Amino acid sequence: MMDDQNRDKQIIELTAKVEKLQSQKDLLLKELNQTEEALEATVSMYARYFPPILDYIQDQNDSFISATRELGLALKNGEPKSRIETLLTRVQTEMLKDGPDTDGKEKSSFISGLLKGSEGGDLYLENFKQGYIELVNVLKETIDSAYTPKLNQIAAGILSANSFDVVTKLRDHLFILLQQYIYNVGSDREKITAFVKEIVRRIVQIEAGITNTYEHTHTTVQANEEFGSLLNREIGDLRNSVDVSERLEDLKTHVSQTLSSIEIALKEKTAKDKAVKIISEKNRSDFQVGFSRLKKELDQAIRHSKDLEIKLNQDPLTKVYNRRAYVKRVSSEMERFLRYKTLFSILVIDIDFFKKVNDTYGHAIGDKCLQEITKRTTPVLRKNDMLARYGGEEFVVIMPETDSQGAAIVAEKIRKNIEKIEFIYKTDTIRMTVSIGVSEVRDGDKSHETVFERADAALYKAKNEGRNRVMVL
Ligand code: GH3
Ligand code: MG
Ligand code: MG
Repeated sequence: MMDDQNRDKQIIELTAKVEKLQSQKDLLLKELNQTEEALEATVSMYARYFPPILDYIQDQNDSFISATRELGLALKNGEPKSRIETLLTRVQTEMLKDGPDTDGKEKSSFISGLLKGSEGGDLYLENFKQGYIELVNVLKETIDSAYTPKLNQIAAGILSANSFDVVTKLRDHLFILLQQYIYNVGSDREKITAFVKEIVRRIVQIEAGITNTYEHTHTTVQANEEFGSLLNREIGDLRNSVDVSERLEDLKTHVSQTLSSIEIALKEKTAKDKAVKIISEKNRSDFQVGFSRLKKELDQAIRHSKDLEIKLNQDPLTKVYNRRAYVKRVSSEMERFLRYKTLFSILVIDIDFFKKVNDTYGHAIGDKCLQEITKRTTPVLRKNDMLARYGGEEFVVIMPETDSQGAAIVAEKIRKNIEKIEFIYKTDTIRMTVSIGVSEVRDGDKSHETVFERADAALYKAKNEGRNRVMVL
């Protein structure tokens, strides 16, 4: 009971965790989309502004400048993104190799600040903004004061920006401004080259953060996508495949924790399923046992009721039908006759001088004689005929679809069969005869009793006329 509650609680907690994780995943995907858009914007920005700016650069034996020029050329020619990415990396490498022109400490902390931006999206945006503000300040110090109001306006816009989109648009303004400036002072090539070099360096530094973030985010999202599928199937492998950035350390921990919880819950669930299976199997086997017992009891009951029904209609001594069964059957035959005029005949058989048999040999021998008489009678009858013990040493036979003439023939056969019986008792041979009264149903007969009475009257007549004979009335 307590275990069930704990499990339920764990499952609820786990569900909440998974939901939380799911929403974090959604957030990451959103962030990835934003970052991809930012990268796209950066690349198109490079493509738009680098080539014209770089056109003003004088040929110099400078690895950074040549890397930048190569990048500018590739952008101008619309070379594939992978090539652009390679060249960008080269520019970044050359830039770091070359070292900052002025105040190395500040710049390296600026770069590391960008790289540290992985702690959170907001902080990254702040660094991105700060990078461009610094660039604006550099421009204000460097270029003609005529550009200052416009630069202030851009700086104010960047400061109040709350998304990359806004900063990106302002950056575009900045570059348009920059291009105008370069175009206007185009005559002083050497000055422009140094200036462009510094500007490009700054831009690459600022924008590098985006690529950096993109790479990390991409990895994380990929891992999260794997997590999504592993949630369904391969939970075990995920912990190894989740390669999240430092910035997403908390998520990594959370994923790890949630995975543990899922593993535990799955184990619990498996155990619970197993327990339920065992219980249900036990229930099923209990049910099967119960069912087979019930079926056995039912079979017994059916057999018992069949036995009862047989006994109810059977004479226990001779095993032929009893008077009750006779009445039932003769009643239905009478109904049939009254409705369809279907004939039937009745034989009433009475053992001659049976009292004497009992008196001479005893009741048990008398019983054996009764059994023998039924044995000899049954084979003479048709399947549809019914032999019943009416009482004492009297028997009746119902013969459906049979007139008195046909019935008399059968009666005669019975009489002859019984006459042949030789029952050996000690030194004596016991012989028996029967008298049989026969009658068929007639128009005007109101009940089966009428038919019986006539057959009985015929029997009485047979007795009177000397016994061991068949009489028809
Ligand atoms: P009859 O019919 O020829 O006139 O003479 P009976 O001796 O057969 O006639 P009665 O009706 O006088 O006697 C019937 C005898 O049948 C009485 C009894 O001893 C015997 N009897 C009746 N039922 C049973 C029974 O279930 N078992 C045995 N052993 N004898 C029975
Ligand atoms: Mg009798
Ligand atoms: Mg008799």
